[in-house]
Amino acid sequence: MEIEVIKTKDKNRLNFIIRGSNDTFVNALRRTIISEVPTLAVEDIILVENTSPVLDEIVAHRLGLIPLTTPPDEFTVASECENCGGEGCHVCSVSLTLDVEANDEDVTSVYSKDLISNDSKIVPVADKIQVAKLGPGQKITLEAIAMMGRGKEHAKWSPVVTCSYRYYPKVIQDSSKCTGCDECVDACPKNILKVIKKVVKLTAPLECLLCDLCTKACAPYESLVMGKVDGDYIFFLESTGALPPKEIFKKATEILKSKAKDFENAYKVAHETFMKKKK
Ligand code: SF4
Ligand code: SF4
Ligand SMILES: [Zn+2]
Repeated sequence: MEIEVIKTKDKNRLNFIIRGSNDTFVNALRRTIISEVPTLAVEDIILVENTSPVLDEIVAHRLGLIPLTTPPDEFTVASECENCGGEGCHVCSVSLTLDVEANDEDVTSVYSKDLISNDSKIVPVADKIQVAKLGPGQKITLEAIAMMGRGKEHAKWSPVVTCSYRYYPKVIQDSSKCTGCDECVDACPKNILKVIKKVVKLTAPLECLLCDLCTKACAPYESLVMGKVDGDYIFFLESTGALPPKEIFKKATEILKSKAKDFENAYKVAHETFMKKKK
């Protein structure tokens, strides 16, 4: 298997080409990234005062969805914490406070930046995520407990905004049937096809949507079909900002490796038990 990283200017994105793999592995990688790589997110709220028009439950829900920067390897997943059994302790959680009061004349907004952590490495990834609006004299005071969790428990713990892949495209053409009409070129929404001397060229394979509009345009002439390169994939990952994308990828591969090892061990035990019974 080979991996080729595609350059991107966005620090939260990681795009790469995987060559020589298969659907099962690439989909397992995608699912591991989405649902197994842990991050910190607000789980419990100790509400001291809320005189805003926003219900307590909605405030708690909105705080839970604010991505928090998560130092890798510092916290244990709360549901797997042997120190507290998932109740929340210094090993698996961190405390943040929020205390905002509007003056007697103006309306004030409560933003993610108002969530103050007692650990400088754990902060909201963006300042301007709105939590509530306070009318004159209204107030929200609370303590928020952020716990380490996995996306399979709740989407708020997923480290990614999006994580997907698509097949690497390939032009399959019988140029002896090509009329040079350029209808496939005109049909392409990405403008990435060229017909030179009745041979179709895909100028930017990474931009191809595999939408098949070129194949459909060429249907009367039966010259062109947009196919895929077997075993090759274009993989896209965008972090919420909780973890750097390369760290998400690294963690996912470690988790996949450890699951494969667990499976191997379980299989060995099952096989030995079966052989003993056979004797
Ligand atoms: S639509 Fe078909 S026949 Fe026309 S230029 Fe494209 S490949 Fe050739
Ligand atoms: S599959 Fe769609 S995006 Fe790709 S070349 Fe054909 S028309 Fe363009
Ligand atoms: Zn704990």
